[in-house]
Amino acid sequence: MTVLQPPVQKNNYYDVTVEDLTHDGAGVAKISGYPIFVSNALPQEAIKIKITKVKKGYAFGRLEEIYQPSPYRVDAPCPIYKQCGGCQLQHLSYEGQLLAKQKQVQDVLERIGHLKDIPVHPVLGMEEPWRYRNKAQVPVGEREGGLIAGFYQQRSHEIIEMKDCLIQQETNDRVVQKVKGICETHGVRSYNEKSHRGTLRHIMARYGLVTGETMVVLITRTADLPNKKQIIEDITTALPEVKSIVQNVNPQKTNVIFGEETKVLWGEEYIYDFIGDIKFAISARSFYQVNPDQTKVLYDKALEYAGLTGEETVIDAYCGIGTISLFLAQKAQKVYGVEIVPEAIEDANRNAKLNGIQNVEFGVGEAEVVIPNWYKDGITADVLVVDPPRKGCDEALLQTIIEMKPKKVVYVSCNPGTLARDLRVLEDGGYQTVEVQPVDMFPHTNHVEVVSQMILKEEAGSR
Ligand code: SAH
Repeated sequence: MTVLQPPVQKNNYYDVTVEDLTHDGAGVAKISGYPIFVSNALPQEAIKIKITKVKKGYAFGRLEEIYQPSPYRVDAPCPIYKQCGGCQLQHLSYEGQLLAKQKQVQDVLERIGHLKDIPVHPVLGMEEPWRYRNKAQVPVGEREGGLIAGFYQQRSHEIIEMKDCLIQQETNDRVVQKVKGICETHGVRSYNEKSHRGTLRHIMARYGLVTGETMVVLITRTADLPNKKQIIEDITTALPEVKSIVQNVNPQKTNVIFGEETKVLWGEEYIYDFIGDIKFAISARSFYQVNPDQTKVLYDKALEYAGLTGEETVIDAYCGIGTISLFLAQKAQKVYGVEIVPEAIEDANRNAKLNGIQNVEFGVGEAEVVIPNWYKDGITADVLVVDPPRKGCDEALLQTIIEMKPKKVVYVSCNPGTLARDLRVLEDGGYQTVEVQPVDMFPHTNHVEVVSQMILKEEAGSR
């Protein structure tokens, strides 16, 4: 067997054409079929690159010059785009981003799931794709004696000051800066990772888009917060939209943000928000979707794909705080939700009550254990919804679905790769993928959310 030499050499320059975009936003060019990843390069661009690293099967190159830019190339509007790393696609126009995400889903379904000829609809994007995040979680540091709040520079623990994040709700940026200033005035020192001293580690601001209510969370190393009373007074005076001030204590040497202990310093334990008609109570530690407008778009699609008439029993696997379950309960006879995090289920039950929804029941545990047990006990579903984390569904859950034979499976996914893998298993087990709808929940980042509809083939045949 001949060992093929990579066709490029480190530090050499090459002229190439970019063919594709990786899921993390790098351009891919090829020389004799050998892929080279180039940060900041876009498909269709003719560019000059310098090779920075050579591996057996691929290489990395640095963009040196663009001879022919992509028609979708734009100047990234954010001045700290490159340092931050929170967004990956600001140099691609929004239209270009939506096209790239659609293509990515199509390619992955074909490559990993061997699913050809399945309609992947154009990505449902935002009309105004900026300022959408309802939660800011920023590390606090010090510079020249003053506090700074911002972000960790890519691949480092250096905090860079950020007063304005273009994908963040303006109110959150303003609240963080104000709270930082108030803490500084009252002599609060920032936490120092190296010496494990100081107090204030992070400031978090959460905003209810519909209600306008804001929560401030101070994450501190010590339970003691100097000048607490004055800090609270100044925050409530300066920021009347704040309904809740919470302290979370994290004494550990860790880069995990939150610690175990959470206490309300002032005001309410919860702020509220709505997705559609459903009201949600959000505590400092609750999971809540960061882009509620697009969450509504995604869940409306899931609801449409579920095709409920009011007669159905539905299982919502990986239900989190019950967002999808409560959405579906309005149109179903009964919804069973299951989730591994007990606190999320407490929230789910609270939210069900808050909305007077009685036809839901939540279970705590692994979906792949709880659902098979339910099935043994005679609980089956007409429609089964899954919304798993990035690693996708557990094999045991997929096998139970195949045995249980719900007429429809609605698969909500934040990772097209594992979606494609799991759709393949369900296809082989008797399901047919009808259509796939990507939704852009996180504009300017490389994330893509997808909802897909599957029907049982026997069903398809008998219609
Ligand atoms: N559908 C929810 C959130 C889905 S995120 C919403 O819309 O809000 C995925 C969820 O799956 C997380 O809440 C995570 O805690 C949960 N999870 C992870 N592994 C799980 C498992 N094996 N069984 C059940 N839930 C799991």
